[in-house]
Amino acid sequence: MSKPDLPTHGMTPFQIGMRGVCPRCGVGNLFKGYLDLAPRCSACGLDFSFADAADGPAFFAQWAGCIPAVIFALWLEVSVGPPWWVHLFTTVPLLIVPPLLLLRPIKAWLIASQYMYKAQEGRLDQP
Ligand SMILES: [Zn+2]
Repeated sequence: MSKPDLPTHGMTPFQIGMRGVCPRCGVGNLFKGYLDLAPRCSACGLDFSFADAADGPAFFAQWAGCIPAVIFALWLEVSVGPPWWVHLFTTVPLLIVPPLLLLRPIKAWLIASQYMYKAQEGRLDQP
């Protein structure tokens, strides 16, 4: 793996993800909506068309957000055995809210990693 092309702002991909800013300048917004990417950086003009996080943010958000909720639901059911409506007010919000809150920073983190590590589809060298 090649060394990352660290921009001058000195932030890591994780820090860029938490802030949702451009991976090159660290100033412009990466998003124009909750999950929609801006076409380009408003500060440095970087074209965000290279960005393709695919299903990565959804996978990681579900993994990090839903597995603890399922563990909680199983613990609650086995140890307390509450009526079903208790799960409606405890487990269901735990299954929905954390993944929604994690999607945007994880998407920005993956796109910043894609930019800084120059990730792209593999290509065969032409002879
Ligand atoms: Zn920028």
